[in-house]
Amino acid sequence: MVRAAGWMLAIVPALLLAARRVDGQGSAPTTTRWYKGNTHTHTLNSDGDTSPDDVARWYRQHGYQFLVLSDHNVLTSVDGLNALLGMDEQYLLIPGEEVTDRVDGKPLHMNGLAVERVVLPAGGATMAEAIQRDVDAIRAAHGLPHLNHPNFGWAVTAADLKRVERDRLFEIFNGHPSVNNEGGGGMPSLEEIWDDILSSGKLLYGLATDDAHHFTRPWDPTAARPGRGWVMVRAAHLESGAIISALERGDFYATTGVVLAEYEVSPREIRIVVKPDGTTRVRVRFTGRNGRLLQEFTTNTAVYAIRGDEGYVRAKVIDSNGLVAWTQPVMLGPARK
Ligand SMILES: [Zn+2]
Ligand SMILES: [Zn+2]
Repeated sequence: MVRAAGWMLAIVPALLLAARRVDGQGSAPTTTRWYKGNTHTHTLNSDGDTSPDDVARWYRQHGYQFLVLSDHNVLTSVDGLNALLGMDEQYLLIPGEEVTDRVDGKPLHMNGLAVERVVLPAGGATMAEAIQRDVDAIRAAHGLPHLNHPNFGWAVTAADLKRVERDRLFEIFNGHPSVNNEGGGGMPSLEEIWDDILSSGKLLYGLATDDAHHFTRPWDPTAARPGRGWVMVRAAHLESGAIISALERGDFYATTGVVLAEYEVSPREIRIVVKPDGTTRVRVRFTGRNGRLLQEFTTNTAVYAIRGDEGYVRAKVIDSNGLVAWTQPVMLGPARK
């Protein structure tokens, strides 16, 4: 019967495989699963082209387990959508908004996930001050802040983010076609910004999101289309509190299409197994302080042995068709609060 169970497992979709994992000393083993979600989406409630109902259906039909509707300075109620489209352990709408601020003519956009009430932009004399005030306003509404598309309008720098406290998340990839993820013209890429911040000792986790606005013109490369970047979150249940706290503690990875079959972090090693995809080949790059390459693997299984003096270690998987996954940094020096 053991053999039969093995065969059964082999045909169950990876998502349904429950992983056993021990959380903390002396606590009972917790069963966790991976949930696919997008935390940045627009609808007709701001500048999207499609109703909240149809947007929620698009993500459900395309294999997502959770979705945050994040309209500009609008908190869309998801109670009705969850009654209509939600399903235990299958699909969940989490409320949210994109707090849309402006400092000295530059855009400052920050999502508030699971906020309990609408949060209005707080503004500030400097970009760093405004980010801090928006973070604090989102926290006061019991939401989880994430800083969006830093290079949109070349608005938010690593120096700004280093001054901010009580934030934990920013977008390392945003699927909108004009947000300058890669940097250029003397401005750093989002990865360079990330490494700059991490090298200063501040812990920040990276999200991939769609920032989808346009669902009605899938042929148009200038449209902000859905399905471009998402997160895979490890949690015990598909429930708002469990998803939010997994994001807050960095128990997720960001991806534009690379799927991990295994991802485990222990004090001794970081273990990544990339799910095979036809003839696609991969590189797994582990980097540390100042973005320095520590080790590169060209196999689907990559195990990095932590030395302890790297400052931090994070991994990026790049496949032969240009899709990418980013795992979260493991801080090895004293992390700033
Ligand atoms: Zn935005
Ligand atoms: Zn947006």
